[in-house]
Amino acid sequence: MIGATVLSVIRKDLELRRDWPAILIGAAIGILPDLDLILVWGLGYPMKLHGSFTHSIVFAIAFGSALSLLLKESSIRGVLAYIGALLSHGLMDVATKKEFGGAQLLWPFTDQKYRMGLFSNYEFYPNPPTQSYIEILKQGFVLSLYEIAIFLPLLILILVLKTRPWKRRNAAAADEGLTNK
Ligand SMILES: [Zn+2]
Repeated sequence: MIGATVLSVIRKDLELRRDWPAILIGAAIGILPDLDLILVWGLGYPMKLHGSFTHSIVFAIAFGSALSLLLKESSIRGVLAYIGALLSHGLMDVATKKEFGGAQLLWPFTDQKYRMGLFSNYEFYPNPPTQSYIEILKQGFVLSLYEIAIFLPLLILILVLKTRPWKRRNAAAADEGLTNK
């Protein structure tokens, strides 16, 4: 949700019918940094790996640029939109984590994990050894509901403002008027 929102804000000339794949990709890459959990849970890497390099500015720029190449995105704003969607994750982690966790925003320059705990009213610290996966999934689901409740209205608002359907309808009507003459 946040990834899609950030992407929609940065992209120029947003058009739902044409740009919905990019918006979906924005949503997907907004959660991509947390796939480092696969390394932790699946491959037995230490828990401190979570929130590390995939949450950094360098990773966002590198992955966002590579993705843009892959998707043949050539406009600077388009590339920045992907980078921004990726980076929104690390920044949100910094803003929401208080007790521990956080994000290594400045990796590889420093391993410092930044966290501010600005609004940490819902704590989500999955801990597989003591919690069942069902329990973690349930918590994650509740957390997603919060995110949707906050960011879905925002995303819709931005999509409406940026695509301005009423404006296009007027333009189309004007075009029709011209061609009919
Ligand atoms: Zn994260």
